[in-house]
Amino acid sequence: ARKTNDSGIVVIGLGRFGCHLAGSLLQLDHQVLAVDRNPERVQRWSEQLDRVVQADSTEEGALRQLGVADFKRVVVAIGGSVEASVLTVLALTELGIPQIWARATSEKHAKILASVGAHHVIFPEAETGERVAHLIVSKMLDFIEFGDDFAIAKVRVPAAMVGRPLRELAPTERYGVMVVGAKLPGERFRYAGPDTVLERESVLIVEGSIGQVQRFAGLG
Ligand code: ADP
Repeated sequence: ARKTNDSGIVVIGLGRFGCHLAGSLLQLDHQVLAVDRNPERVQRWSEQLDRVVQADSTEEGALRQLGVADFKRVVVAIGGSVEASVLTVLALTELGIPQIWARATSEKHAKILASVGAHHVIFPEAETGERVAHLIVSKMLDFIEFGDDFAIAKVRVPAAMVGRPLRELAPTERYGVMVVGAKLPGERFRYAGPDTVLERESVLIVEGSIGQVQRFAGLG
């Protein structure tokens, strides 16, 4: 059996998305092997990232030589060229990589990536665009949607709720949302309970359906 590199992650394509991803993985204490075919990109990132190599990732042999086959997780961060991204995913499936993450730049690209064997398809432009649209048109301060109409949001305290404990406010009965956390400026979030008293400056974490969470945020 081959020895797999369980904690390391290969990032292919050091464009704007790939380099942010590689930097964040490093901050999370994971080893990163970064691959790009452009020598200037490789040169530019060689100081910030610990291992950056120049190679054409559509070539299975090149990936094999770099030891990519020993990694459990590989992210294809190439966006601009659908062909390069798809051929890279194919090469990775040939190597038998157990977790291939691939970035799509359109719905069709996403479908192709899934059909050639990517295990996780991410679509950062679409996901960020949708999230930011929600933030712009609602009063939510932050927002994550999990599908099946369930969301968690960061919201301000509705003015009418200041100074009263959650037990009395009964947000679940009245608004259908569960208040799971609260924090004052400069403090950390704490779990909210029936005795939590909401203050004017508090920020809350609430969960519920998207409509319920938005309506609750709108009261603030
Ligand atoms: P972004 O939108 O994140 O800036 P780009 O698609 O512009 O992404 O950048 C993708 C990166 O992937 C570029 O640095 C490019 O050199 C690299 N790349 C493209 N094709 C290949 C390939 N076949 N092998 C390795 N790297 C590639």
